[in-house]
Amino acid sequence: MRRKSHELQWLETLGKRKQLNEEQRRALQRSQKGFVGERQMDKLVETFLPEITEIIDDITLKYQSTVVQIDKILLVGTTVYIIDMKFYQGDYILQYNSWQRNGKKLPTNILEQLRRAVRVIENIFKENQIDLKVKGVLAFLNPESNIYVEDTVSEKILAFNELPLWLLELKKYFSDERYLHWQSVLFQYQIDGYRTKRQLTLEEEKHLQKGICCPRCHQFNTRQNKHTVVCSCGYEEVKATAYVRTITEYGVLFHDRYLSLKELKAFFGKDLQEIYLKYILKTYFIAIQSTVKKRFGHENKGIIFDYWFEDDMEHFNQLEQRKMWK
Ligand SMILES: [Zn+2]
Repeated sequence: MRRKSHELQWLETLGKRKQLNEEQRRALQRSQKGFVGERQMDKLVETFLPEITEIIDDITLKYQSTVVQIDKILLVGTTVYIIDMKFYQGDYILQYNSWQRNGKKLPTNILEQLRRAVRVIENIFKENQIDLKVKGVLAFLNPESNIYVEDTVSEKILAFNELPLWLLELKKYFSDERYLHWQSVLFQYQIDGYRTKRQLTLEEEKHLQKGICCPRCHQFNTRQNKHTVVCSCGYEEVKATAYVRTITEYGVLFHDRYLSLKELKAFFGKDLQEIYLKYILKTYFIAIQSTVKKRFGHENKGIIFDYWFEDDMEHFNQLEQRKMWK
């Protein structure tokens, strides 16, 4: 499943609880567009190459001391394509080994990240005797960008409107042979993805909206019943789910801290039912203890509910019956 970047999770969660400043708003828009672009690319691959199943989306690898984040990897025939996606807007020219954007030279080479990823995967394959070719692909996903490549480079550089044709051409190389081994080898080098370096200032923390945020209208006018939380917009959510979800929202915003009861109490605000919060923490979160008696708090994965409890969705779906309980 294609996941939102940690930065996007953080900004979206924050945006529900305070008015974002100008810089945060622009960063949020950028991240949202990027995510839409990545999903469009996923769709294109599914549409044009439905027979390709050996795909890895969004993986971070560590090989020796090098860390690389890769947007998409696919195996077609005997070539592994490493795809780096950019959502840049504007006119880009690659000439004399340097990039220009709207006529101005860029200080960095947009291809560098991709080249590092290709080198890392080539080395991993070599070390594990995997005999597959590795090719880098730089895909510009913003339809409002124009790409001109004057240099000869070993990577494939594609503008948005060139993607369908490229994918159709790949179809020719498809074979029924399976090399599933290469994926499990790469997973051995997988590490957790980057977390945002963003943190709330004390001032921002003070002004955060407290309480349970309605997932439908994003307002905070909720009323807690025995088994459900009901919003003034009419939306009804199972109480356990609402509590767990709200705890994960705290977890995203304060991703560098443990979940502490004291801080969660403040985060839930005046409508909190403390006994219920304690029950939820005990049931769904992992306690971290320093000694037998003393507790630090609970483990914080720092990610949104859908990802944190990805493997427990069946359980939360079953809880939906509680809406019928009296
Ligand atoms: Zn609502």
